[in-house]
Amino acid sequence: MTYCILTIALDTPLNSCFDYRWQCAAGAEPLAGQLALVSFGRREVVGLIVAVGTQTDVPAEKLKDALAVRGQLSPLSPAWLALATFAAEYYQRPLGEVALPGLPKNLRVLTTVALDRALKKLAKGTAAAAGDDTAVGTPVLNEAQQLAADAIGGADGFTPILLFGVTGSGKTEVYLQACAQVLARDARAQILILVPEINLTPQLEGNIRARFPGLMLATLHSSLSEGERMLHWLAAHQGQARIILGTRLSILASLPHLRLIVIDEEHDPSYKQQEGLRYSARDLAVWRARQLAIPIVLGSATPSLESWHHAGSGRYRKLELRERAVKDAVLPRVKLLDMEKDRPKDGLTSHLVAALRQRMERGEQSLLFLNRRGYAPVICCEACGWISECTRCTAHMVLHKPEHRLRCHHCSLELRIPRNCPTCGNVDLQPLGRGTQRVEEGLQQLFPEARILRIDADSTRKKGSAQAAFDSVHRGEVDILIGTQMVAKGHDFKKLTLVGILNPDTALFSHDYRASERLFAQLMQVAGRAGRAARNEGGSVSEVLVQTRYASHPLYAAVVKHDYERFAGGLLDERKGAALPPFVYQALLRAEARELAGAIEFLAQARDCLAADGITVHDPIPMTMTRVHNVDRAQLLVESPSRPALQAFLKEWLALLREMKSRVKWSLEVDPLDI
Ligand code: ADP
Ligand code: ZN
Ligand code: ZN
Repeated sequence: MTYCILTIALDTPLNSCFDYRWQCAAGAEPLAGQLALVSFGRREVVGLIVAVGTQTDVPAEKLKDALAVRGQLSPLSPAWLALATFAAEYYQRPLGEVALPGLPKNLRVLTTVALDRALKKLAKGTAAAAGDDTAVGTPVLNEAQQLAADAIGGADGFTPILLFGVTGSGKTEVYLQACAQVLARDARAQILILVPEINLTPQLEGNIRARFPGLMLATLHSSLSEGERMLHWLAAHQGQARIILGTRLSILASLPHLRLIVIDEEHDPSYKQQEGLRYSARDLAVWRARQLAIPIVLGSATPSLESWHHAGSGRYRKLELRERAVKDAVLPRVKLLDMEKDRPKDGLTSHLVAALRQRMERGEQSLLFLNRRGYAPVICCEACGWISECTRCTAHMVLHKPEHRLRCHHCSLELRIPRNCPTCGNVDLQPLGRGTQRVEEGLQQLFPEARILRIDADSTRKKGSAQAAFDSVHRGEVDILIGTQMVAKGHDFKKLTLVGILNPDTALFSHDYRASERLFAQLMQVAGRAGRAARNEGGSVSEVLVQTRYASHPLYAAVVKHDYERFAGGLLDERKGAALPPFVYQALLRAEARELAGAIEFLAQARDCLAADGITVHDPIPMTMTRVHNVDRAQLLVESPSRPALQAFLKEWLALLREMKSRVKWSLEVDPLDI
């Protein structure tokens, strides 16, 4: 028997790993990457062994024995540990907080019952993840698709590829055929495919299963049960799952034979985790591909300016798909409807109503896009000026008519709709503005015979209801679909020939410098849902109608022309001139306190505690939405033209901030998207 020292990362906010003693036969020492059960304080917790040695600085009387090592689970690979370590360092978080929460919960419980059961199931090969199906025909790729698929499938070593393809250009088919090449070449190869939204997994899952029958596919996203998550995670970890399809969290999956990464809709803000470890799954994916020396594909019709910039400078290889893949399908014609000239009634201009009617008559589907759920964003009293404000947030209470409630979308406060004005007693309270529910109501009156379906976060609360809704659109059981950004992305609705966009103007005047990039991407994405199938003999081109008060705005001109390249070029010039990302690197320090002054004071101290060449530390400012759930929030921006310089500064700075032991709650975000 011999003793060794295990250095174990635990999921604690403390920035360190802990040493434990472990007795075992000589030569049978545990390995880094294995999980171990240890006592920590008064609890027993599962941690990750990051190093195995013989020495420790912990005095003998304080050194505790580890309780168990999870020997039945093969160790996480050194490459995976390196990924977690990089993420922890880059995002300035303790390793345990990065490495452990990404594991299935059932691996982190005290007993191994669930683990043993899952291992047994996988050994028998009866995992739910195994394929249930027959191969369907592989479409013949067009020339541009074939070039792209071959470039990806044949790439050797670290090859970042931007697949810039218009909506409906058949990017999915390119991914699938590139996957087929990689899988055919390497009998163990694993491929990771990321999609931005959970709602897009079933469509792609179906495509993958049909194309690769018998191949094990694992899915990783937040709506799996713990049992499913364990099974799928293990199937990936043991190399049995060959294709892993997931949302952003799957970037931290253990994939011992990873050979290709695909990031679909790479521009999508959903790839950024917005709480806890605020990582960018896309950025981590690029790092992971470089580390493993494998190709990575970033696909989009509207790439992020970061990726576009890299493609321009030659860091990424750019592959283009300029045409729609389906024969005779063409990009929709985009028209701007000037709301000053054609005044909307119930939110709809007469032009849009006529276009909807025409689609109804032809038996085609229409989609109305409005990125605001609820009935009306606020109710007001015209007599005294009262408006429904949240008592806990700098926000309005949104009217939800079907539920007879006012709701705050930020702190979830719910109130009954008041019968009369709380200040003057007036009984005539009016909804102001319009959300998806109100548009739905207006449509029902206009088209009583139409089958209208609303898809937003409210209508799809029940598990499985979003999928059921999308299925009914695909089956043609819906004439008019109204929805938020949930319906804008990725879906391949074949019978849809009209998209109406309501009220996109507000984003034009946002103080957020990314607002126009986002709006453009969103409009191109939602426009891209129209006209995806071949036109009938003599059929007309599909249409996108944008209702606006600013018809001469250059952003809309670019949308009309489907001209991403020119628009992105212009934005990049602006960013360069204004020294904004991707030309500088940023980090944001946020602070929360009961009173704004407390948060600002902490940030001012933070600003003054360290200075470095080439680093700009700005003054603290209140966040735009200052108060949420009775907490005031402020922020401070740090910038540098050099990423390594910023990283070095942050490391030193955070050590100082931790020493301050302020009672103010604070957090740091590297590469923030919203500032
Ligand atoms: P994107 O992801 O670029 O928006 P999709 O991959 O969803 O586009 O493809 C759009 C449509 O084109 C799909 O219905 C798909 O089946 C079809 N498609 C793709 N490639 C081909 C091809 N080579 N021949 C015929 N149809 C194709
Ligand atoms: Zn009033
Ligand atoms: Zn609130």
